[in-house]
Amino acid sequence: QYEHREKDCIFCLIEKKRIVSENNLAFLVYDQYPVSDLHCLVIPKRHTADYFSISQPEINAVNRLVQDGREMILKRDKTVLGFNLGLNCGEAAGQTVMHTHLHLIPRREGDTPTV
Ligand code: 5GP
Ligand code: ZN
Repeated sequence: QYEHREKDCIFCLIEKKRIVSENNLAFLVYDQYPVSDLHCLVIPKRHTADYFSISQPEINAVNRLVQDGREMILKRDKTVLGFNLGLNCGEAAGQTVMHTHLHLIPRREGDTPTV
């Protein structure tokens, strides 16, 4: 799936060594500017605009990595009590990287978001 790359897209160009885990259609990396410690992004390998443009197999692949990522975070950090799963779709919704990605954000005591 890595053949569907865009030259100027930072998520198409992510270095292999940054990839924490992957399956056939998606991969997981740590967010470069985490909103909480261990904030992860689950990214389909194929370049598409946002969550509404991915296929059912890609949705399944993303979901499997969300589950794996959650397990990994809970093993690594016993202070994690909950998660925010986030999808910003479109500039108007705050999407800044125009390659589909899902935020997996661990939350700890005192860390509960207000929105
Ligand atoms: P968005 O605002 O589009 O939903 O989220 C984009 C996310 O990508 C932000 O949380 C930002 O910190 C993260 N990000 C931007 N550039 C990079 C990068 O080069 N590598 C990684 N791992 N994350 C990035
Ligand atoms: Zn891309």
